[in-house]
Amino acid sequence: MTDYYEVLGVPRDATADQIKKAYRKLAMRYHPDVASEPDSAERFKQIGEAYEVLSDGGKRDLYDRGGDPMGRGGMGGFGGGMGGFGGTFDFTNLVDAMFGGGTSRGPRSRVQRGQDALVRLRLTLAEAAFGVTKPLSVDTAVVCHVCHGSGSAGGDPVTCRTCQGHGEITQIQRSFIGDIRTTQPCPTCRGYGTTIPNPCGECSGEGRVRASRTINVKIPAGVSTGNRIHLEAQGEVGPGGGPAGDLYVELGVQEHDTFTRKGDDLEVVVRLPMTAAALGTSMTLPTLEAERDDKPLEEQSVLIEVPAGTQSGTRIIVKDRGVPRLRGSGRGDLGVTVLVQTPTRLNEEQSALLRQLAELRGETSPEAHVHSRAGSKGLINWLKETFSG
Ligand SMILES: [Zn+2]
Ligand SMILES: [Zn+2]
Repeated sequence: MTDYYEVLGVPRDATADQIKKAYRKLAMRYHPDVASEPDSAERFKQIGEAYEVLSDGGKRDLYDRGGDPMGRGGMGGFGGGMGGFGGTFDFTNLVDAMFGGGTSRGPRSRVQRGQDALVRLRLTLAEAAFGVTKPLSVDTAVVCHVCHGSGSAGGDPVTCRTCQGHGEITQIQRSFIGDIRTTQPCPTCRGYGTTIPNPCGECSGEGRVRASRTINVKIPAGVSTGNRIHLEAQGEVGPGGGPAGDLYVELGVQEHDTFTRKGDDLEVVVRLPMTAAALGTSMTLPTLEAERDDKPLEEQSVLIEVPAGTQSGTRIIVKDRGVPRLRGSGRGDLGVTVLVQTPTRLNEEQSALLRQLAELRGETSPEAHVHSRAGSKGLINWLKETFSG
């Protein structure tokens, strides 16, 4: 029978993804429209057949057990080899062979792919914005270091006596409506068809043990809460030391004391004395980069120009100083909202000066200028909206 794994050039434990990639690559190369080799049509047919079997869980399972999922071999497909079928005619298996065998009949492999694992990782806003490589402690199943996944302390697995290697037990109960046939996984071998006479003491024959390890996770710049980093084959090692599942690292970003993130923009509020707001000024503002010692000094602060007559609630936009965009290039903006501070606890001299200013401006007894809602949502509403997260 054709070795489908060899046809696709993949290992026997190849993942569905590996099989699909290998198939696509080969199918493109040997497609009759483009290939020039004389046997390319035959190869193309083989590649298609191999993919049909290996991409279908049921067919692949049957093929791995020595069956012919294309249904050509008839009984010849089961000659033993695995020792399980013992040469006896098994109608169920023949039907499975002819119709693709979607159900999981017969012994299951002791070696299976492990599950995917999910861990959570907390980041500061600066780490999420500029990226970081962080050590992460992961607790997953790993290949047993004593038996290297075999599960045995010595000696190969032997055919299970309870089920004679079938991995399942069929019971026929006679009842008034006829014979009722029930098939269950074999309790002795748990469906494997074999037992380990001398199980490994470290893993109790599982082929894997739980262990903590530390991996370094590279977080790209611009991530936000809920983003997941996908690490291939870093998840749980499967039973029997089978290939590891994938690891997903779900990110959570902590709130920052002063900076608020809105998409790719950063928002910050600065307080400014009334006099400075009236006269205009410039001020140096530490940026989020100030928390990173790997950033150049000139990026760790920004000079803000406050024009004369700036009102409370004015938002000054510093272009391209927000969060780097995760997809695409460039950065968001930094929004600096100015809160004008009215002076309190004035001394005699200061009061006298302000009173003099009020007289000069004719503001000693101002009229009530009612603020119209139209055209302005008001500072308080704006602040609420912007900083509510
Ligand atoms: Zn072991
Ligand atoms: Zn058994």
